[in-house]
Amino acid sequence: MAAFAEDILQAAEAAELEIESAVKNLERIVDKNQWKIIEAFQRHQVSDYHFAGSTGYAYNDRGREVLDLVYADVFGAEAALVRPHFASGTHTISTALFGVLRPGDELLYITGTPYDTLHKVIGKTGDGTGSLADFGIGYGEVALTPEGGVDWDEVALSINDNTKVIGIQRSRGYDWRSSFTVSQIGEMVRKVKELKPDIIVFVDNCYGEFTEELEPTQVGADLIAGSLIKNPGGGIAETGGYICGRRELVELAAYRLTAPGIGGEVGAMLGTTRGLYQGLFLAPHTVGQAVKGSIFAASVFARCGFETKPAWNEPRTDLIQAVAFDGPDHLIAFVQGIQRAAAVDSHVVPEPWDMPGYEHPVIMAAGTFIQGGSLELSADAPIRAPYIGYMQGGLTYSHVKYGVLMALQSMKDRKLL
Ligand SMILES: *Cc1c(COP(=O)(O)O)cnc(C)c1O
Repeated sequence: MAAFAEDILQAAEAAELEIESAVKNLERIVDKNQWKIIEAFQRHQVSDYHFAGSTGYAYNDRGREVLDLVYADVFGAEAALVRPHFASGTHTISTALFGVLRPGDELLYITGTPYDTLHKVIGKTGDGTGSLADFGIGYGEVALTPEGGVDWDEVALSINDNTKVIGIQRSRGYDWRSSFTVSQIGEMVRKVKELKPDIIVFVDNCYGEFTEELEPTQVGADLIAGSLIKNPGGGIAETGGYICGRRELVELAAYRLTAPGIGGEVGAMLGTTRGLYQGLFLAPHTVGQAVKGSIFAASVFARCGFETKPAWNEPRTDLIQAVAFDGPDHLIAFVQGIQRAAAVDSHVVPEPWDMPGYEHPVIMAAGTFIQGGSLELSADAPIRAPYIGYMQGGLTYSHVKYGVLMALQSMKDRKLL
């Protein structure tokens, strides 16, 4: 057992007692999602032969076809496109948006500024990069209210004849705001459709999958997308993304991924298929381990005097745990402590660096089996006031627990605690 200060161990013990009821509730969600996935596998009679890979054009790859059906079933959608050919979450979201938007159309985000990597997908008129703007697709966004809700007066003013897609981001991403629960997203869909019935509601579902019993497509979202190296890959999928939703929209996204007229009917899975099935099967459990870790972290860090968002007893709809620290030294000790608890690359000491695309130095901890896989325990922090550290993931609860204890011990070693 690693050596931890007595008061840190006591805080951990007290935290584990405190979070018991929240963990019970979480276990119910895990059970429901696990059975939902087993039932989907059963309905589509998933068998060993589905796991074989395919090569070349891969026409009639039954494993690939059934995987799409299973995803559609689990997400309560008409259709799905689940592919290792999506290089990242951003690529997947970009494919969905380019799939359905046409020159002259407008995309309107109603949950404030979207995730950083999407800014260049949206782009600027004449930027020459092939961004949405470069293709003459307009963009608008409505900032959240000071309370963190959707500003409906502004949304009503912003929707116009050209508004074709409404964008909603479920997860807080790396903002000190709350994430939107599936029931809140359902309410947003209802209100948006009241304003314009034929509008397409798109949800960036990254980090949200299986943290609740329902998914956005089950409460009216038309199209959703996410990354397979986050929640639904279960820590097993080595790469990829998924898009689910109304059949004609998923088909348009598939035309964008490959080529018009070809869509999802080609695409060699090589050796990835079994991992995508097995990852989906494991996802509810693994997401549950990660969320339990976040609940624990929220409780322990609060006990040590830091503000946490969400608090341990607040509802959760994604993996991300934010903690507000007192200054840069705490932040660096936190991230370095998380790294020290990793099985992979624990000997590396993360340092803040000027990452391209960021305005402040950023420090990141990641000791993962899948590069950048953020269903695995990782932590990031931009070094700027108000000094918020973000942590997410964890394939096992015990790993997260040790990560948190190491973070606190690192602070203690530097006399910051
Ligand atoms: C991770 C994430 C993305 C982008 O995914 P990448 O794999 O990093 O490209 C987009 N939106 C949200 C909310 C995310 O969490």
